[in-house]
Amino acid sequence: MPCEIDVLSLFPEYFRGPLDVSMLKRAQEKGLISIQLVDIRDFSEERFRKVDDRPYGGGPGMVMMPDPVVKAIQSKKREGSKTIYLSPQGKTLTAEKCRELASYSHLILVCGHYEGIDQRVIDSEIDEEISIGDFVLTNGCLASIVLIDAVSRFIPGVLGDEEGADHDSFENGLLDWPHYTRPEVYNGMEVPKVLLSGNHRLIEQWRKEQAAEKTKQVRPDLFEKFISGAKGKK
Ligand code: SAM
Repeated sequence: MPCEIDVLSLFPEYFRGPLDVSMLKRAQEKGLISIQLVDIRDFSEERFRKVDDRPYGGGPGMVMMPDPVVKAIQSKKREGSKTIYLSPQGKTLTAEKCRELASYSHLILVCGHYEGIDQRVIDSEIDEEISIGDFVLTNGCLASIVLIDAVSRFIPGVLGDEEGADHDSFENGLLDWPHYTRPEVYNGMEVPKVLLSGNHRLIEQWRKEQAAEKTKQVRPDLFEKFISGAKGKK
């Protein structure tokens, strides 16, 4: 079943470009994924299509008013929809979560702007808040693009057979191994001999060792989890 994604934001034009090139473009052309851009302002009943107001309790910035956001969500919601608010206050997006989201037939992504959306929208309409990392973006559009890109890689047919996600970082609990291509010597740096040996068993072993070493160095948290998982399987 193709995955349909409705993206609700104040800047539909933000998405032109990232969604219209490369793999996401091909995935849409092949009908594997269908992305609709929805302008939340179209649901405003205020003068000048206003969608924000000052926060109750005072403080800086503006907050997105509940009514246009709720109406935009409800215009798209149907049985089986999963509604996600991109927010720095959500759980951090992982490869595992991307794989899970790729199994839904319909995602609604709500992009926040200003200080974010009124809490009552989150309480009444949102199934899950997802963050793309411990930092704050100016709005949720870029976060939605990141989520769409990462999720689409798990939709069958989006990646060609040769580009399958199986060996990518996180898939087996480790980061990916180092990659080399022509030329054999570049600026005096040689491709590791084992990769030229033609011995597939040795190459596989070398790659596993490299992946483990890199993970240990840069992501000791992942490495610990990997080791304890391996011990658990024994
Ligand atoms: N006041 C909010 C806070 O500190 O939690 C930040 C609001 S931010 C300026 C505006 C919007 O950008 C948010 O509503 C959210 O949709 C999006 N955003 C910002 N950082 C994000 C992140 N790390 N992950 C996902 N969305 C993010």
